[in-house]
Amino acid sequence: EQKYEHGLQKSRKTFGDKLNELFANFRSVDEEFFEELEETLIEADVGFETAVKISDELKEEVKLRNAKDKKAVTQAIIEKLVSLYEAEGKVEENDLHFAAEGPTVFLFVGVNGVGKTTTIGKLAHRLKAEGKKVLLAAADTFRAGAIEQLVEWGKRVDVTVVSKPEGSDPAAVVFDAVQKAKTESYDILLVDTAGRLQNKVNLMNELAKIERVITRELPAQPQEVLLALDATTGQNALTQAKQFKEVTKVTGIVLTKLDGTARGGIVLAIRNELHLPVKLVGLGEKMDDLRDFEPEEFVYGLFK
Ligand code: GDP
Repeated sequence: EQKYEHGLQKSRKTFGDKLNELFANFRSVDEEFFEELEETLIEADVGFETAVKISDELKEEVKLRNAKDKKAVTQAIIEKLVSLYEAEGKVEENDLHFAAEGPTVFLFVGVNGVGKTTTIGKLAHRLKAEGKKVLLAAADTFRAGAIEQLVEWGKRVDVTVVSKPEGSDPAAVVFDAVQKAKTESYDILLVDTAGRLQNKVNLMNELAKIERVITRELPAQPQEVLLALDATTGQNALTQAKQFKEVTKVTGIVLTKLDGTARGGIVLAIRNELHLPVKLVGLGEKMDDLRDFEPEEFVYGLFK
């Protein structure tokens, strides 16, 4: 848990620090305060639309509560940020969903370098520690590096990886992995895929084929299609998410590299603009640096 704190501290250094700065200079809830609040939110990558919405709703709330002092206004904004996140969906939506019986399959999508493979490695480690039998499929066959990297993670966390040579049909890798998961009673199969957004039609076809192969053998799967986004890329991450939503049915976001960024506000933009839950958060490169996303903890962390 210390690590989570540490990660949040880093992420709060800018988003949190700016919010704290705003409140340190607090005089009264005037027009200027709301303008500065909007600026702070935009700089933290909350996004223009969401920033204006938060500011407008907070204005109403402050009036309603007759909040005048720093403490009351801070509390109002904390509640606003949490409710903005939670109002978008049920709280349990933040949780990963597992099959009641038989193997669960999670598909990981996202462009190169966002931290997809690392996330799979970390999650495999966590699930294994929970006593689950975990299998990985290296279906990003476009780059030899990607296959090697997943195999490397498999060794590190002591989990089996199904792979084929570079250039193989990704759906064939998935087919073998699903067979193995079924016949050898694995609890969970995590599938790495190639996220080449350069050719959206190809990507769409490739993902559709992979999903068909899975569904044929395991009708209720994949349980999750998790899109990995790099928090440090700010608004670019949102653009990627919009594009991925067009090619496949994303069920949740893995927000990586939240440990090194000023842009923690992207969490709210993802929720408010894309209507997707953040299910996992990456707070570093090591196998233990993966956390479930807790909206309240996140928002309260900003104001510590
Ligand atoms: P992929 O191409 O999407 O599979 O991305 P990788 O898993 O190879 O990750 C790209 C780089 O980001 C690697 O150097 C990882 O160690 C690093 N990385 C991944 N997740 C995190 C994270 O949560 N925090 C930090 N600081 N680095 C990360």
